Amino acid sequence: MPNAAQAIGRHSATRPRSARLHLFNSGAGRFALDVESGRINRLAAEHAGVLDATLRLGDTRRAELTAVALGLSSILNVTEHEAPKSVPLKAISLAVAQKCNLGCTYCYAQQGTFGGEASNMPPDVAKAAIDQLIRTAETGETLTLAFMGGEPLVNRGTLHASTRYAARLAAARGIRLRFSLTTNATLLHEEDIELFQEYGFTLTVSIDGLQEANDRLRPYRSGKGSFKTLANNLSALLAVERRRYRVLARVTVTPKNLDLPEIMTGLLDMGFDAFMFSPMLSAPSGKDEMLADDLDCLLEQLIVCGNIFREALRQGRILPFTNIIKTLQRIHHYEREQYPCGAGGGYMGVSADGGLYACHRFVDDDDGHMGSVFGGVDTEKQSSWLEKRHLDKQSPCGSCWARYLCSGSCHYEAIKRGRPACDYIRGWLHYCLGLYSEILQAQPDAMSQILASH
Ligand code: SF4
Ligand code: SF4
Repeated sequence: MPNAAQAIGRHSATRPRSARLHLFNSGAGRFALDVESGRINRLAAEHAGVLDATLRLGDTRRAELTAVALGLSSILNVTEHEAPKSVPLKAISLAVAQKCNLGCTYCYAQQGTFGGEASNMPPDVAKAAIDQLIRTAETGETLTLAFMGGEPLVNRGTLHASTRYAARLAAARGIRLRFSLTTNATLLHEEDIELFQEYGFTLTVSIDGLQEANDRLRPYRSGKGSFKTLANNLSALLAVERRRYRVLARVTVTPKNLDLPEIMTGLLDMGFDAFMFSPMLSAPSGKDEMLADDLDCLLEQLIVCGNIFREALRQGRILPFTNIIKTLQRIHHYEREQYPCGAGGGYMGVSADGGLYACHRFVDDDDGHMGSVFGGVDTEKQSSWLEKRHLDKQSPCGSCWARYLCSGSCHYEAIKRGRPACDYIRGWLHYCLGLYSEILQAQPDAMSQILASH
């Protein structure tokens, strides 16, 4: 176990030394991010040296004034942003089945039940939720309807009926509706594939590695591994001609599956359209959560994967590595998001009995309760959530250079476990800032393609 001094040493380049300025290197030189504007400026070697030395001495104010004098930073005051009172719904996820056929060790949904009775969402609840989503939207808008659980294919009846109902309603109102489904891919039927094809779903398959790791972390309730069934069903999904749906892999990273480059190669060989890694930071059972050492290891492994991505790009191939692609897009657009995601704002999760919650992870949890699909959004609760969860209210984000790229990190994890992953988040952003500057200079056409990719 490394001691505190070792941890500080390891993260010394990425821990916040200034809330307005962040220095980083890449193959293309030395750079400074102006945190308020998002501008990335190349630094002359002597300027980089002066700024770095001043920050090392802890003289933040002098470093920031020097950056202004050098034209690297335009403003000295951190901008204040007001929290909105309400945000219209643009996306909902339906917990169509609060039950699951697997028994994953760390499951955030406690094997799908969220700690209550196993239940299916009746069609009338799904219909009321869809009405809620579509009713107030303007013609021409794009909305998202997501199916989650538990395992949504356990309640195939509601999934199919509500997809068709929502598509009809959206078409009648001139609204574009995107469908997505998160699944363990073990219960797939031919009729499901036909549904995904007809409505152009985005499918996210939860898979935690290749056979050995996946079977250990994602067994059936009997203890038997689920990988073989998943792999067979994936082959069926990918075999469809002129496929209109995408199949993405989502790997929940725990201390037991940290060999990311091997997993990445395996997922690409399996034919997934894209893949992403997401650390397990807060499990209701407390099992398999990532601790500080695990997060350090995750960062190292992700960077190895990032270097593989970089090498493939040099050979003219963009690997569908969502962690990198989304981060490069975020750096480029630098929208200074005040929330990490739409939870509790434009996005809400719906429980099987029709409760509205801040997102799919808050289902049946008072911390994120937001009303019901029958009574509508509780505007007082939403307004209070938006006020409390606003980036300006998150500590210690105000003093962090990464705040407009991270936006305070996942609400659920911050509420349940605090912010144990800041070094990992900043380490990854620091690496991606370097990658961004380098690709922009060496392969600008490739960067345009990355920015345009989904
Ligand atoms: S949650 Fe994000 S913005 Fe806040 S301190 Fe941690 S890394 Fe920085
Ligand atoms: S609060 Fe966390 S789990 Fe919920 S949508 Fe946001 S990032 Fe995802």
